[in-house]
Amino acid sequence: MKSPFHLSKEEMQSYGYKIVDLIVEHYTEIESKNPVSIASRKEMDSIFLQEAPDKGMPADKVLDFVMDNVIPNANISGHPKSFSFVPGPSNFISAISDSLATGFNIFSGGWIVAPAAAELEIVTLNWLLKMFDFPIKKGGGIFTSGGSMANLTALVTARRVKCGNDFSNAIIYLSDQAHSSNIKAIRVLGFKKEQIKIIPTDLEFKISINKLKNEIAKDKIEGRKPFCIIASAGTTNTGTVDPLDTLADICEKENLWFHIDGAYGAAAILSDKGSKALRGIERADSLTVDPHKWFFQPYEIGCLLVKDASWLSNTFSEKPEYLRDIEGNESEINFYDYGIQLTRRFRALKFYMSIKTYGLDAFKQAITYNIDLADKTEDLLRESGNWEIVSLATLAIINFRYNPLESKLSEKKLDKLNQEISARVVASKEALLVTTILQNQVVIRMCLINPDTTLNHIKDTLNQCETFAEQILLDWKNAV
Ligand SMILES: *Cc1c(COP(=O)(O)O)cnc(C)c1O
Repeated sequence: MKSPFHLSKEEMQSYGYKIVDLIVEHYTEIESKNPVSIASRKEMDSIFLQEAPDKGMPADKVLDFVMDNVIPNANISGHPKSFSFVPGPSNFISAISDSLATGFNIFSGGWIVAPAAAELEIVTLNWLLKMFDFPIKKGGGIFTSGGSMANLTALVTARRVKCGNDFSNAIIYLSDQAHSSNIKAIRVLGFKKEQIKIIPTDLEFKISINKLKNEIAKDKIEGRKPFCIIASAGTTNTGTVDPLDTLADICEKENLWFHIDGAYGAAAILSDKGSKALRGIERADSLTVDPHKWFFQPYEIGCLLVKDASWLSNTFSEKPEYLRDIEGNESEINFYDYGIQLTRRFRALKFYMSIKTYGLDAFKQAITYNIDLADKTEDLLRESGNWEIVSLATLAIINFRYNPLESKLSEKKLDKLNQEISARVVASKEALLVTTILQNQVVIRMCLINPDTTLNHIKDTLNQCETFAEQILLDWKNAV
């Protein structure tokens, strides 16, 4: 008897080719679509909410339904006018290679289950270690689902290495601009609120070194045990890099673990400007990198790099009897010993195939282009009397607000105006452009890591913003 999941060779081919065509069309037709989709739970329920069917239906019918209803009801994070959050420009080679990993369902937990998968993870991690000037022999790392899991993995490791079994008195420091996933990780780890010290940032959004030093000194005097500093190498809000060398000095002097969250910005190391901005990154004990952001990979692939691979194995290795037979020698890494997951998808494959296909120069070129594009956007905003730059273009992120020279609007009005400009742009669905808050001001944030975004896309959207701004001001005037 055939398995209930059996399809003939022809059925599989026709279904598979159809999906490849759809993905190709996504890449070629992306500009003809809007990046934004908006739908309420009620609308979605009315389309999808139903019991699991006992009887199936033709595969093509299901696919057509999905193409009509699922795909259009999701933002297009790789759209050149998707400016918000961290865009996901991805790339075709990685997207398709990822289906290879899924199609062959390769288990990337233990060496003997898939030696080449473990080897590719080692090799691509080595590429990253080299990029960040980490020791290749002694250093190591692991691919995770994303930056959040990489930060969690880092902090578990830091705690294990620095605190052993008792962390009741241990204190961890991070800035008010550090990514929320760090706080989440600290909470998952069971630290109490009093053990987390959030240090204010200066006018450039960098962690305030004096305040940090004072806090550490105070904690020591009061009998607590400082154990870890989390620095940001590219904050999500502004792209700001904390003073990494200074922080590394403090960590050395105070015997603290130095974790750098480079989930947003670390990839900029490939460009000349980025590599200058990231000076000191090589001094981290652990570094989070997020290939599904600025290394143009499809979701999900994050990465943690560490100076000493044995920190990971000493933290995560457990030896249950049912894994006895797959323990190999030490150079044959079982990645289940390096992190939280046992069964792991083959994330290294897409990263490997895209770098082999395009070469690192292509990545370098794209990242350099992104950083320059943000600089050009800054120039453009400066030339106009309508815009105020709130944080300078930094690692391809720029924040600004509509604030015409002669308008004399109150802070409250400016906040409202910029919030409303963004709301109208999003409602038009033509660009994804949302606000953030910096120094208590509502500002519009652009993150320009899509290599298909051009200055014209940006001009279009800024023009749209200006038109909306004039309308809003007129609406307000008429309402009085
Ligand atoms: C995006 C981001 C994260 C979280 O990464 P995910 O891949 O979304 O889990 C952590 N830190 C920073 C600085 C980020 O920008």
